This record gives sequence, structure tokens and C-alpha cells, in this order.
Amino acid sequence: MQFRTRFAPSPTGPLHLGHAYSAMLAHDMARAAGGDFLLRIEDIDQSRARPEWESQIYDDLHWLGLSWLDPVMRQSDRLSTYRSALQGLWDRGLLYPCSCNRRDILAALSAPQEGAELPTGPDGPVYPGTCRRQPAPGTPMPDQALRLDLARAVAAIGPDPLRFSETGQHPQQVVIDPKSLIDTVGDIVLARRGMGTSYHLSVVLDDAAQGITHVIRGADLFEATPLHVLLQRLLKLPTPIYHHHRLIRDDAGKRLAKRDDARAIAKYRAEGATPQDIRAMVGL
Ligand code: GLU
Repeated sequence: MQFRTRFAPSPTGPLHLGHAYSAMLAHDMARAAGGDFLLRIEDIDQSRARPEWESQIYDDLHWLGLSWLDPVMRQSDRLSTYRSALQGLWDRGLLYPCSCNRRDILAALSAPQEGAELPTGPDGPVYPGTCRRQPAPGTPMPDQALRLDLARAVAAIGPDPLRFSETGQHPQQVVIDPKSLIDTVGDIVLARRGMGTSYHLSVVLDDAAQGITHVIRGADLFEATPLHVLLQRLLKLPTPIYHHHRLIRDDAGKRLAKRDDARAIAKYRAEGATPQDIRAMVGL
């Protein structure tokens, strides 16, 4: 199996040291394995994506000495692929429309047990199921936020455990009872309102379309991986090997925010740093 990995930034701000580490690590691992390094622009959030940030990504990555196989995949070019996957899940009765906003969800969750810890999944509090119902067969898929009915999805894939290999910070064979995701993940949003998809749906479809064998990404996404493996099984897609790497933190030990301009690669470049300096800063 040819090793194939990718770096998948969102063009919603400057790349910072955390991105540089993720990209260089994936690039180094691909080179060491004689494999391929690909790039994907995760721009499904068109309200935040900007062409100038995308150009800056190419510029910073080239400056760091990285090169990638063409073509670059851009998520905004793949909306019809996302839509047909959603349509398939809709036709199988696994999705339902949801009109709750964050406030509705928190209100529904905090009503019964004041002060108790809310169960939290990859996207925040586990959805309490307010809008859950099975649309009548033949109902056209609405242009609304769509949630995956996790209990039905679990019934659809059968009882075999979900499995993936983790080769990152804590190497292990992860084996999960699909049923446990009903409580730990819940009815996740697969199509956001006005976006027609979501990070979770797009990432599994795109990794499969790019033929990714090794997903190398930050440890913050480890807890989303069981959901991604469940989606792969639902959509009959292969499960890659996962490598979740340590996160780059600031001096106070806080993980760098999506937009930590103080640690933008562009800023270090402007101050005269070399790509070798960046490697040293992130411990590569
Ligand atoms: N676009 C995601 C991010 O910037 C990357 C997700 C992934 O690698 O799966 O955090």
C-alpha cells in the first residue's frame, strides 16, 4: 500500500506554528515512507474563507520547503458529492431536519439536572434529540440543518465493533462498541444550515476521494475519529490509519487558537526567521 497523507487547512486565517508542525510532520512522514503528500483546502465555511488566506497558505507552505501532488482539492468544489452522500443517508431514513440553535440545545439539556456535567461530544454538548423524528418515506430532503440519527445509524451498520489503528502519541488498536456512540457522540449535524455539509461528512468523503492511507492531524481530533469511522462504515468507505500528534502550545501551555496571529508563520518570516528556525520552534 502506497503511503498517502494530506494537510487540510481552512483558509480562515493565517497558518501558525501548530499548522506548520502538522504540515511538516505529515510531509516528513510521507517522504520517509516514499509516499505522497497532498493538500486540501477546507473552505466549506464560505462565510469565513477568504482567497487571500488561501494564497497565503500556498506561500507559507512553499516557504517551509513543502511540495505536494497536484491537484489541490478544494471542498467548495465538492458540494455535489456531499449532497449526494447526504441524499443517500436521507433515503435510508438516517437523517432528520433540525431547527435548534445553540441556546435551544443548552436550555433543553440544563432543564432536568441543574448544574450536572453535560455529556460532550466532538461538536459540544450531545444533542438532546428535540427535533428527532423519522421523516415519512418519500419526503424530499429539505434545505435545512440535517442531523444523523445515531441510534438508527448504529442499527444500520450492525453490531461489529468499530476499529482503527492509531500510530500517534498513544499508539493503539482502538476498538469501540458502535452503541456507545449513541451517548458519547449523539445525533451529530451532518449538514449545517446554509453550508450543505459539515466538517465530519466532508472529511471522510474527501480522505476517501484523495486515497488517503494515513491521516496525520492534531490530537484534538482524536475524539472525532470514532464518528469518522462510523461514517466510513455507513458510506462504505475505507478506514485509513490515524496518527494524532501532540499540539503546539503557547508559553502559558494553552493550545494555539485557530487564529493566533502572534504565532503566524508570516510574522516569523517578516522578522527574518528561516524554515529551520520554525522546525526548531516546533521540535522537529
Ligand atoms: N481543517 C481541519 C483543521 O484545520 C483539519 C481537519 C483534519 O485534518 O481532519 O483543523
